[in-house]
Amino acid sequence: MTIDIYESITTRVPEDIRTEIEQITASAAAQNPPVNIFFRADDIAVPSKRFHRLMELFLTYQIPLCLAVVPAWMTRPRWKAMRSYINRGSRLFCWHMHGYRHKNHEKTGKKQEFGPARPHRDLSSDLEKGDKRLSRILDTHLTRVFTPPWNRCGSETMHILQQMGYAGISRNHGARPGAPEGFPDFQIHVDLHTRKEKAVKTGWRKLFHELETGFSSKRCGIMIHHMRMDNRAFLFLEFLLALFSRSPGVKTLSYDDMIKKR
Ligand SMILES: [Zn+2]
Repeated sequence: MTIDIYESITTRVPEDIRTEIEQITASAAAQNPPVNIFFRADDIAVPSKRFHRLMELFLTYQIPLCLAVVPAWMTRPRWKAMRSYINRGSRLFCWHMHGYRHKNHEKTGKKQEFGPARPHRDLSSDLEKGDKRLSRILDTHLTRVFTPPWNRCGSETMHILQQMGYAGISRNHGARPGAPEGFPDFQIHVDLHTRKEKAVKTGWRKLFHELETGFSSKRCGIMIHHMRMDNRAFLFLEFLLALFSRSPGVKTLSYDDMIKKR
């Protein structure tokens, strides 16, 4: 699928875009080091060509990646095809739960799987089933952080997760309702592949702004949807990984690192 903002990329990210992002990164790292960054890839379950390309890229640059796995889509054969990454990047990859079926249950308003439309018992039962299924398949490789589909969920969901022993959640920057006390929200500031702008220029301007906002926060979350990535989107992601890996004052983290750090 073609992503509008990447239209200007052919074999290399254009110079003006590189320069702008390099400057944003350098100035944030100089003013407020370290700039903490984490990457989160959503809708993980199928070991597709794009999935492997994504994983190889993070391995090449030795940058951590939080993988949001949809429990109902994950199977033993699919996990078997992904398992080699555990040994090759044990420090880097952080597998965690992304909804249960990735299904919308809200009749009106924005899509949510774990929103206010559902009774407590249904929320709780889906979360328990998802957790059990992933623990059974992924065994000890499951990190107890929850990414709700569409980056939204209600308060009840967060309380249930906290009771289940989950260490935190990951939603959009500024998500409401707020997370309960002692339950961190590893928020996403930068959306690489599900942007809504139609004009390329506006898209880039907003992306630069998201990076600036994220870099001035406690930690900047960058969201990836590999199933929507084309070759140009991969070139841009590689540019970011290369830049962050050579930038002093930039630190890339996984949930495992962030949980330990709290
Ligand atoms: Zn998703």
